[in-house]
Amino acid sequence: MSVWDDLVGQDPVVAQLRSAADGTVGTATSAGRPAGAPGGNMAHAWLFTGPPGAGRSTAARAFGAALQCTETPRGCGHCASCHQVLQGTHADVEVVRPAGLSYGVKETRELVLRASSSPSGGRWQIVLFEDADRATEAAANALLKAIEEPPPRTVWLLCTPSPDDLLVTIRSRCRLVTLRTPPVAAVADVLVQRDGVDRDTAEVVARAAQGHISRARRLATDPGARRVRAEVMAVPRRLTSVGPAVLAAETLVKAAEAEAKTMAEELNETETSALRQALGESAKGRMPRGTAGALKDLEDRQKSRATRVKRDSLDRALLDLASYYRDVLTLQLGAGAELVNTELAAELRTAAAQGPPEGTLRRLDAIMKCRERLGASVNPLLAVEALTMALRTG
Ligand SMILES: [Zn+2]
Repeated sequence: MSVWDDLVGQDPVVAQLRSAADGTVGTATSAGRPAGAPGGNMAHAWLFTGPPGAGRSTAARAFGAALQCTETPRGCGHCASCHQVLQGTHADVEVVRPAGLSYGVKETRELVLRASSSPSGGRWQIVLFEDADRATEAAANALLKAIEEPPPRTVWLLCTPSPDDLLVTIRSRCRLVTLRTPPVAAVADVLVQRDGVDRDTAEVVARAAQGHISRARRLATDPGARRVRAEVMAVPRRLTSVGPAVLAAETLVKAAEAEAKTMAEELNETETSALRQALGESAKGRMPRGTAGALKDLEDRQKSRATRVKRDSLDRALLDLASYYRDVLTLQLGAGAELVNTELAAELRTAAAQGPPEGTLRRLDAIMKCRERLGASVNPLLAVEALTMALRTG
């Protein structure tokens, strides 16, 4: 076992990060750089990019663990440092997870200040910035200053979907790590080997999740998530006339919201109990004096995250729906590409025979427009109702 095990189908990335982490072993030079200072394959700022679910933050965290690891080769996965980083309790690794829709300049300045201190016991002072693309412009500028003049022991690990999501001035100072969409087979293998999912289910959900590992795992292990997806995939079948189309819209929005609620609650529970423990909760569940503020802060952050989880969940439902029409189009064009929804093959073939590809393209376009409108904060139910109407008439 090593810290790299969770990186599924990302061999080139693992090789790149491994060599950088191992390269930090005793690189004291005549130029007076401290042992292990950036040099060779090491850099002060790294940018992890790749499609959602490919494992950007997993890769960044594994790299963080390897940098703090006290064994060789770095990233053993069993030393105390590796454990602490992977569990999020290492004193010299701060994980920044913007809870709301953006990340402000005040928080960034505070972060930069903390990042400039020397590591307390680890080898590096590491900041792992998930969703760095959510930094406001002012926040990004504060970040740029920190990256331009890095303290010798500080390492920034930034994650964004694509390099274009960051200021070019920041991007140009980062070593780029590019994750790819993991192959369906690799995702299915992990589900079988690590989660004990049976092979057939693993392959169906790996395809359905289109390379999004945690999504695939959720579909494989949570019947509720499978039910929601089934409801979304039933929408095309329900668009027989105006009444059912309106109802289908309502079902879709409600199903996505219910799933978001479950996911947010799970996240909240884990976080809250971790914080309560860290703050010194007694065996009877009593909290020490003066800790109420920290718990309240966490609660506020969780509330603003709930909004984002809800939006993401509806967006994913629409992408699932798009995969239906993408399959129909594949069949209509006879492109021979593999279907995402193999379990619906018969229904998809019927749908494909019913009209020209132009109609399917218009439907796909309507879904993308609906996603844009939701991104612009249009009322979800209204936007999805308009969508189901457009899907009905094609
Ligand atoms: Zn280790």
